[in-house]
Amino acid sequence: MLDGVLDKKTLREARKRYTAALVKLGLDPSVTIRLRESLGSDHWIAQYRGRSQFGVRPIFWVSVRHPDDVEELTRSLLHEYGHVIAEWVRYREPALWEDLDGVYPDEEEFAEDFADHATGRARSWVGTFVQRVIDSLPVG
Ligand SMILES: [Zn+2]
Repeated sequence: MLDGVLDKKTLREARKRYTAALVKLGLDPSVTIRLRESLGSDHWIAQYRGRSQFGVRPIFWVSVRHPDDVEELTRSLLHEYGHVIAEWVRYREPALWEDLDGVYPDEEEFAEDFADHATGRARSWVGTFVQRVIDSLPVG
């Protein structure tokens, strides 16, 4: 159960690591982060606001109820970025979407594997496929 309170320093450090990981992959880390209260039994750490990337930049909600764990939060931000990529591919790269959806019928698994890849922990076939998806994204 997550019932800590997020420290701003934790968020700043996690954002720094998230940014570094994406830049290393040649990806645009621009994101708007909004703090939110996560209520009840819904103990999420971060959430991507669907379709927000088609506005100014993607919006991530970060729960203020979160243990002070930089690594966990960094991973969660990277996971959310995996959703941003999957969504982009779904709407803008239909041919690639067929492949992605074939390999990952559950988008959560793609987001997890993207987070693994971004932190250098992916199994090799995963890394190869995820990198192929990344390489197909527009630059900038
Ligand atoms: Zn997810």
